[in-house]
Amino acid sequence: MGFRAIRIDKTETGSVASFAELEDSDLMDGDVTLRVTHTTVNYKDGLAITGKSPVVRRFPMVPGVDFAGIVESSSHPDFKPGDVAVLNGWGVGEMHFGGYAQKARLKGDWLVPLPEGLDAAQAMAIGTAGYTAMLALMALDRHGITPAMGPAIVTGAAGGVGSVAVAILKNAGYHVIASTGRPEEADYLHALGADEIMTRADFEGPVKPLMKERWAAGIDSVGSLTLAHVLAQTKMRGAIAACGLAQGMDLPTSVAPFILRGVCLLGIESVQCPKPLRIEAWNRLSRELDRGKLAAITTQLPFDKLLDAGRDIVAGKIRGRVVVEIP
Ligand code: NDP
Repeated sequence: MGFRAIRIDKTETGSVASFAELEDSDLMDGDVTLRVTHTTVNYKDGLAITGKSPVVRRFPMVPGVDFAGIVESSSHPDFKPGDVAVLNGWGVGEMHFGGYAQKARLKGDWLVPLPEGLDAAQAMAIGTAGYTAMLALMALDRHGITPAMGPAIVTGAAGGVGSVAVAILKNAGYHVIASTGRPEEADYLHALGADEIMTRADFEGPVKPLMKERWAAGIDSVGSLTLAHVLAQTKMRGAIAACGLAQGMDLPTSVAPFILRGVCLLGIESVQCPKPLRIEAWNRLSRELDRGKLAAITTQLPFDKLLDAGRDIVAGKIRGRVVVEIP
């Protein structure tokens, strides 16, 4: 049977993404086949669609690092036809056909059951971005950081990771400082739980080894000079969870925050994250992420607009999270 998908093909100058008709025989190996019902747009999907970064490591490729779908057939013991399952990461959309398609086939070991209390659209409103924000909060918790130690900073706050991070840090009891390059989104960020807004300009310019101590915790999706500024202003024994590189992959910092203030930089990796941690993150999101705030973060988009949305997220034009229902 034929089905519709976005396909990325290699070209002489890079790659090109377009809508295509695929056949079941085009699907890659796996023990679970799903009808994809919902997907979303992450920064990485934007990089794949635009070809701006070499995230696609096999051509042709169906992008889409996240999806929710209904199991059509399965030889995996944990999944049976009719179950609803969620996929985040594992190289799907990079090395294995992903969620920008009406159908997907992959390893059941990569799937998690739809978390109790969430529907498929809400799971995609959270997506890899929201699940990564929760992995970051869990890392701060494991490190022993508490709201009593001081405020939490969120960089790239109006983006996907940032929006969920603001909401869940506020729910955890933190005084939340949101940094954004879009000051016009201040009301949006206050509604999610931000107590203070800072601008990108506050994180520009030369970084001193140590600056005035301002926060004890942080979730950073920006990297580069911004993260260097964040580290230099982190309080004694605080910790910053680094999850992204929206500004750049470099980190022009010194060891001063680490050796003179005991600051810790916690690395967050969502793609190969072990299943028990994934399930814990999803269960916590189901319990701790206010549904009104999740709705406020979310924009619905038709399948036909996915290519535009991929370009928009790389251009920093998408606010919060996007949900795409697959027809
Ligand atoms: P979004 O594009 O939704 O959010 C990124 C935000 O970063 C933007 O909204 C913007 O926030 C800010 N930003 C963008 N460009 C710049 C810039 N040049 N300088 C400073 N700030 C900038 O992406 P996601 O939230 O989906 O992902 C965020 C980052 O996290 C990405 O780098 C992504 O690759 C990474 N990521 C990593 C994961 C992991 O496993 N470690 C998993 C998921 C994502 P504002 O407008 O508020 O300034």
